[in-house]
Amino acid sequence: MSLEELVALSRRYGSDPDYVLAGGGNTSFKDESTLYIKASGFPLSTIGPDGFVKMDRAKLAQIRRAAYPEEPAGREARALQDLMNARRAGEENKRPSVETLLHEALEEAYVVHTHPTLVNGLTCSVGARARARELFGDRALWIPVVDPGYLLARTVRRLRSAYIATHGRTPEFILLQNHGIFVSADDPAEIERRYDEVFDVLDRACARRPDLSRNEGARNRARDSASGDSEAIARRIEAAIGEAVAVFHSVSREMLRFLADAESFAPVSSAFTPDHIVYSGHMPCYVGDDARTPGAVKRAIEENRRAAGRSPKIVAVKNLGAFGVGRSAKAAETAALLFEDAVRIAVYSECHRGPQPLPPSMIEFILDWEVEQYRSNISG
Ligand SMILES: [Zn+2]
Repeated sequence: MSLEELVALSRRYGSDPDYVLAGGGNTSFKDESTLYIKASGFPLSTIGPDGFVKMDRAKLAQIRRAAYPEEPAGREARALQDLMNARRAGEENKRPSVETLLHEALEEAYVVHTHPTLVNGLTCSVGARARARELFGDRALWIPVVDPGYLLARTVRRLRSAYIATHGRTPEFILLQNHGIFVSADDPAEIERRYDEVFDVLDRACARRPDLSRNEGARNRARDSASGDSEAIARRIEAAIGEAVAVFHSVSREMLRFLADAESFAPVSSAFTPDHIVYSGHMPCYVGDDARTPGAVKRAIEENRRAAGRSPKIVAVKNLGAFGVGRSAKAAETAALLFEDAVRIAVYSECHRGPQPLPPSMIEFILDWEVEQYRSNISG
């Protein structure tokens, strides 16, 4: 019972890349008085009891009743301060997950929240809500895109209450548009059962799988050409970014399909979820010209930087693949990993009427969001 079960459940999902990438996702357990929520900076795959922050549920209930400013920055700052103040004594050096209030909004003892690629193929698709209904009937509660943090938790609470009033029972799981899934239950085995069912349904609905095999043709071409190989391109990217950065190269047949031309690149040219904004950037740079042409990489990066207002975390090069860029080797690799995830989401979304990135207003909000910056700093 309780914290040990939470640790086991967290590690089980956290170590499976079908569910969790790059420290995304979070879990919790609650008793009458305390919510044990994943702390920022502790990956689920290796988390132990000390990776959870003990939160005073009476104080979390006060946040629900508090009147905050309507203006987003003021609202989130106040809510964040109150969230920090809801930590129990001795927990001051840990930072509760940004999704703590949403966990508290669910009554069940165990909550496992993840951002699975297969699920996000659905949540990041055109008309996702209608499609979710086709696939799952009224078993799922659907949450449209809304500012993460305080407002998201409030929205889930309101829509969940409405669902219970209509159906006389709680939803089996919660799908969040352009974000992921929440599954909660009093019994950990029930959480696993529901996840399995969701994956089964989506597996059957997706006839086409992303082709993740390495494209040997592209790799050989890269090796053969002294000035055009991936190492040389990586050096050009470093030079064009103009700061000390690490670069990580990634390629698959599927990815190359998206890098064929500007039109093919469109589905992965923005961000599908907040994770993509944080780790692989909201506007990956595309080099469609022959990258061996002198100045082509530099030109594309400068143009991208002007449009995005910051340096790209992904430079995607036609015929060669994606180059993750970061302040550390780990950050560069994570950027590439999340871009691969975006490619796979785009493929799965084709089974659900096509890809739908986050709306620009939400991207703006998250770029400004202090909490996400914190997460980004930890990962970088
Ligand atoms: Zn999330």
